[in-house]
Amino acid sequence: MGLKIYLNGKLVDRADAKVSVFDHGLLYGDGVFEGIRSYDGLIFKLQEHVDRLFESAQTLMLRIPLTKPQLTRAIIRVLRANRLTNAYIRLVVTRGEGDLGLDPRKCPRPTLFIIADRIVLYPKRLYDQGLSLITVPTQRNIPEALNPMIKTLNYLNNILAKIEATTAGFEEALMLNASGYVTECTGENLFIVRRGALLTPPPYVGVLRGITRCTVMELGRHLGYAVAEAVLTRHDLFNAEECFLTGTAAEIVPVVRVDGRTIGRGQPGPVTADLRKAFRELTKTEGLRYHH
Ligand code: PMP
Repeated sequence: MGLKIYLNGKLVDRADAKVSVFDHGLLYGDGVFEGIRSYDGLIFKLQEHVDRLFESAQTLMLRIPLTKPQLTRAIIRVLRANRLTNAYIRLVVTRGEGDLGLDPRKCPRPTLFIIADRIVLYPKRLYDQGLSLITVPTQRNIPEALNPMIKTLNYLNNILAKIEATTAGFEEALMLNASGYVTECTGENLFIVRRGALLTPPPYVGVLRGITRCTVMELGRHLGYAVAEAVLTRHDLFNAEECFLTGTAAEIVPVVRVDGRTIGRGQPGPVTADLRKAFRELTKTEGLRYHH
């Protein structure tokens, strides 16, 4: 049995899961999305993801054709139809079909689809050895132009940064804002450990308010670390004891080098390890159960 996709209220085969070439999600990147994970039959932080999707849509004046409870039921339906207990769920709402002009008023019906598939795990080496980051020339979108807090389908800012990093031979890019302050990576938030405290840039510098970021801040406090939002420079990163990235797909990834500078001892540090362990425990116990 092939993969079933939820598309506008129906479960369809992967081969039939198609949207129009007139869909403004494709023509203009006009839409919003979420990436969610499930662990052993528990959907992790579902409410937070659904809330963020609705907030992104609200700012874009995009109508989500389901209520929050209906959306939750649709997600569970796709997971069950595909018999997935450990999954990556991609929830997408686009402006829908319109004409070749960009005016959203010409798009009467939003497109909503949900893809749930097996999670492709990052190589273990990444977590054991840690990442090397490079600062890229492309700056993170300024909030006054396209606020990074909105999780839109328009990811070219991040894609340009990713291309610059990989072209230079690095897996991940460090993005600064127009003032030169540290923001985030192409699909992950960033933390440093300084004098034992966890620091991460505040959303107003221009970052997505990551759900994993929020979870890690809570876990950090639980574990007894001081946790704060702080405006950070590259100098702060170079002199950090530890550095790591957070995101739904990647979870918590150690960073051991930034622009050629070794961070701490050049290997994943004890605070990062502590948080990774606590995070793993949380995913096993917390979440919406959809599978027995
Ligand atoms: N920043 C960006 C730009 C992202 O795309 C993501 C992942 N979607 C994140 C941060 C991490 O957010 P979350 O922890 O909610 O997955």
